[in-house]
Amino acid sequence: MNSYQYHVRHFIDGEYVDGVEGKTFETLNPATNQPIGVVAEGTAADIDRAVKAARTAFDEGPWPRMKAEERARILRRIADGIERRQQQIAEREVADTGVPISQISKGAIPRAAYNFDYFAEMTHRVTGESYPVEGEFINYTVRRPVGVAGLITPWNVPFMLETWKIAPCLAFGNTCVLKPAEWSPLSADVLGRIVQEADLPPGVFNIVHGFGETAGAPLVAHPGVQMISFTGETTTGMEIIRNGAATLKRYSMELGGKSPTIVFEDADMERAMDGALWQLYSLNGERCTAGSRLLLHRSIHDDFVGRLAERVEAIRVGDPTDPRTELGPLIHPDHWQRVTGYVDLAPQEGAAVLVGGRRPEALPGGNYLEPTLITNVRNEMRIAQEEIFGPVMVVIPFEHEAEALRIANAVKYGLAAYVWTRDNARGHRMAHAIESGMVWLNSHNVRDLRMPFGGSKYSGIGREGDHYSFELYTEVKTVHVAIGDHRIPKIGLG
Ligand code: NAD
Repeated sequence: MNSYQYHVRHFIDGEYVDGVEGKTFETLNPATNQPIGVVAEGTAADIDRAVKAARTAFDEGPWPRMKAEERARILRRIADGIERRQQQIAEREVADTGVPISQISKGAIPRAAYNFDYFAEMTHRVTGESYPVEGEFINYTVRRPVGVAGLITPWNVPFMLETWKIAPCLAFGNTCVLKPAEWSPLSADVLGRIVQEADLPPGVFNIVHGFGETAGAPLVAHPGVQMISFTGETTTGMEIIRNGAATLKRYSMELGGKSPTIVFEDADMERAMDGALWQLYSLNGERCTAGSRLLLHRSIHDDFVGRLAERVEAIRVGDPTDPRTELGPLIHPDHWQRVTGYVDLAPQEGAAVLVGGRRPEALPGGNYLEPTLITNVRNEMRIAQEEIFGPVMVVIPFEHEAEALRIANAVKYGLAAYVWTRDNARGHRMAHAIESGMVWLNSHNVRDLRMPFGGSKYSGIGREGDHYSFELYTEVKTVHVAIGDHRIPKIGLG
């Protein structure tokens, strides 16, 4: 009989509840692969219960009818609750995901609180358009909440990504059911307590835990749900769109990536090196916007790779609860297999594993992997085309700007890109021509929440953030008002 540290239940209609069918599953600590929590395993019956609660809260409850300022006050209280419980959330997240504590507590959790503060402000910024027509009409638009949202999230930085969806969804007066990823259910669980303490009306926010096929899929297919905001793998996104067709869902899709970091010969090499390293090896390399293809100008290639290799070797791999750790264990043994599968593929494709690629000798348990640097890579190789989602960087040389651009774009994804050059004109030229939703010039991924977030090509559909979130979470209604006696054609007069 296992004694678990964490007992996670669904959160439905303002209360923590067991699953209808009483099923459970275990969650593992990636540093040991020991079970640390037992989690309610949701099925279609739980989803139905949660959607009904969200539906009632939307159709009959106060939330969509509240004044914006009242909703904003509750959202700010949720932000405060996250700040008060920062340590508890961070501990759970590290235990669940293996991402180093320094990166969770300094980055992901403060950002989660900020998501609520930010969208509290946005409740006041829902605008409309108005067009007067020659003294006859005033036509205008209003934005109304849509209804019930299904929010489906992945396991990398789960708490930040969950709140990134919940905050705008609630800000505009919708209600929702969150289905967190099955490999990382622990931190979301704290949100139930936080929303209770913030006096969010029951049913406005619900959580059903469980697996994609048995809990996520019924949420997507449920006729009581109008929209799905999904973050996860591209193939899952495709499946969700297929499954939501019969109930005509609207979607936001934040999907996978294989983003280039491009370093030109005139770049500030020190900063480019820092940026390239952080952008791939932080968050254990499990980040959608990872700069996972490093494109280096031929003239700097050997020198850059030499110094990069020294830095990669020096990355501190270890216990994610240790504040000095820079790279923790991968989330799950299955994911470790997948990532190391790509490392094994590299020599078969003709590439060279220059650094890492194996389990560190000092860390025999858990899902640890040495930070890995692969050279002699051609962009056509699978290791350069497919999302590895781990601490594995592939390096590709280029001769000139046009070739850098061609390589950057010759991939099915289009999420992010990072360009390092001191030539401003070239930087902007590249930024405009690269096929991706976001480009950072001379910077790693520093988010500005006023800017839209999302990807092009196979990396996603739609943008979220600031007023871009209105597109998903509000319904635009057009109102035509006659203010004069415009001509009405007469029929039926014989
Ligand atoms: P995943 O697609 O396996 O799972 C994501 C979520 O979808 C989980 O909650 C899962 O249970 C659920 N799910 C799976 N099958 C489903 C189905 N048929 N119906 C409904 N729900 C289903 O992704 P993951 O492995 O958890 O996360 C890693 C992926 O997420 C990577 O591809 C990464 O690039 C992507 N990601 C993208 C962004 C972005 O903003 N673009 C951010 C973070 C992660």
